[in-house]
Amino acid sequence: MAREDLRGWLPSGKRAAICFSVDDVHPGKITDAYEGGGDLDAGALGHLRWLLERHTRLRVTLFTTADWRELSPVPTRKVLARIPFLRERFYLAKILPKDMMRLSRHPEFVHYLKRLERAEVGLHGLHHVHKGMRLPVEFQEQDAAECTRILSEAIAIFEEAGLDYVRGMNPPGWNVTDSLAQAMLAVGLQFVASARDIVTPVSADALTNMSGLKGVSLIYPERILGGRLLHFTSNFQATSGVERALEIVERGGLLAIKAHAVKNALGHIALDGLDKLYANYLDLIFTILEERYGDSLWWTSMGEVAARCLDHPHAANAGMREAAL
Ligand SMILES: [Zn+2]
Repeated sequence: MAREDLRGWLPSGKRAAICFSVDDVHPGKITDAYEGGGDLDAGALGHLRWLLERHTRLRVTLFTTADWRELSPVPTRKVLARIPFLRERFYLAKILPKDMMRLSRHPEFVHYLKRLERAEVGLHGLHHVHKGMRLPVEFQEQDAAECTRILSEAIAIFEEAGLDYVRGMNPPGWNVTDSLAQAMLAVGLQFVASARDIVTPVSADALTNMSGLKGVSLIYPERILGGRLLHFTSNFQATSGVERALEIVERGGLLAIKAHAVKNALGHIALDGLDKLYANYLDLIFTILEERYGDSLWWTSMGEVAARCLDHPHAANAGMREAAL
């Protein structure tokens, strides 16, 4: 069966869907090492709010880190980084002290997120850091019990901060392991967004082959792990052309647009950092989509799509195939 036939995930009358999500949201300010949303209207979240005000159907998922500790995304302890085995046992760059960016210690930030209209919060790790060469990839060799402990600690911080969250996660560094997937189920998560592919040509059968999970659908939500988790692929970012967005819509897909709250991490520039330039580009994309497709587009969120698919057990190619986990 072709994937085009599997449209049960869309509400009737809708030809395609739009989701927008922002990663790395945390209380860091420009007066800290770098900004991750903590400057509120004066930073990345201000650009987001501007977009939400201009596009009244747009929704957003803010993948938020419970207690952000990353400073540099790449090793700065260069000598240590050259020593195999030993380097896996150390943080290869300075990291922030525990609890400095703990959500519950930043009530103004939490209050801002709670007041933001048409925004939902998803999980984006506990500390967003790991020992060894791949600093931002928080989940690597840990077993399922350890992953469950980390996720439970993150969730406890959201609850302590009084910040509601949807039952979904984008793993830091896009990396979902088998142990992490088991842990997500153990703590009651329902969806994961762990693939980014902005290069594979758009088609109904296209599978992901870039960052994170490979071999899942490029343009449709897909059930993985025997149907127990719903997977979303981020298939569009700042460097993507408008024709990619239109191709995804024309094929009845889910256009999942990604941005990052952190634009500049100590000189490491995120191409899809949510600055004024990217906000202006997204404004143009959203305007084109609104004018061309009107009411036939489902402006939704990952949390809403996941809830709908769970209500409709046959939606999103249930049991059609087991993704490569
Ligand atoms: Zn991240």
